[in-house]
Amino acid sequence: MIFQRTLKNTIRCTGIGLHSGKKVYLSLRPAPVNTGIVFHRTDMKGALVPAKVQNVVDTRLCSSIANQDGVRVSTVEHLLAAFAGLGVNNAYVDLDGPEIPIMDGSAAPFVFLIQCAGVVQQKAYKRWIRVKKAVSVSHGNKKATFEPCDRFRVSFLIDFDHPLLSEQGEELDITETTFIKEISRARTFGFLKEVEQLRSNGLAQGGSLDNAIVMGDFRILNEGGLRYEKEFVRHKMIDAIGDLYLLGHPVIGHFKGIRSGHALNNMLLRKLLSHANAWEFVEGEQVAQLLQGENPALQTDNPVPMEALTPAMGLSA
Ligand SMILES: [Zn+2]
Repeated sequence: MIFQRTLKNTIRCTGIGLHSGKKVYLSLRPAPVNTGIVFHRTDMKGALVPAKVQNVVDTRLCSSIANQDGVRVSTVEHLLAAFAGLGVNNAYVDLDGPEIPIMDGSAAPFVFLIQCAGVVQQKAYKRWIRVKKAVSVSHGNKKATFEPCDRFRVSFLIDFDHPLLSEQGEELDITETTFIKEISRARTFGFLKEVEQLRSNGLAQGGSLDNAIVMGDFRILNEGGLRYEKEFVRHKMIDAIGDLYLLGHPVIGHFKGIRSGHALNNMLLRKLLSHANAWEFVEGEQVAQLLQGENPALQTDNPVPMEALTPAMGLSA
């Protein structure tokens, strides 16, 4: 786990963009050491858009990134969360449209794709960002914080003025195992009234009960109900883990989100990076020392069977 990781093989799938409603072809490909996660718009003369904090240009409904020429890729967070959860730090992501497909609204189809492609270790140390001092940002009653911690831990609290979702909180050490089992299947969610409003504004054209939990005034409209008891807050954890991966490095620290979203998550990352004494890079032996004492942030096991995951739609190897 202290070494960089990429995919063993290329894997492809198709899906639809949540906001555009259009079909997208997606390929995940192996990449050399120190590449990071780089998006490649095959429909835009092969323009490259690296997954970096500095490239975030829009955080209203999802995290969108763009390169210097303004070529965009939207809704990157669930795929980035899957790469983060499985410890993959180098990959090319080809797509022929502006939006990563929404799949089933969770990170599980991407986990499934990455596992099908296989993950290989590379001959260079991976670098972690270790949080040394607490940093926080807030906006109204929303808050996001990084605190020092000897592993990667995520806490989240949400509350809505809705009978089905008043308050929900969760705190977990994020390892490959907990990510796959406890987090990856949590779907995005919305309220019926909100969805109707988005649609009339030309957004969420691809949204349906197949890729989101939709709440009416008194009940969840999805036939199968929820996948986890705390599926809502766990989805917010996926979003945060994906947003954090825009640092380009995994984190050793404790992220705490209170009603936080993509905008505040991004502000927190920028603030952390701008405070040079609040963090440091660690790699190799330093990380290996943290490994001792069964540090869950650095587990290498991968015991979750494929059948535990939701199969990806339109999968083609
Ligand atoms: Zn999300």
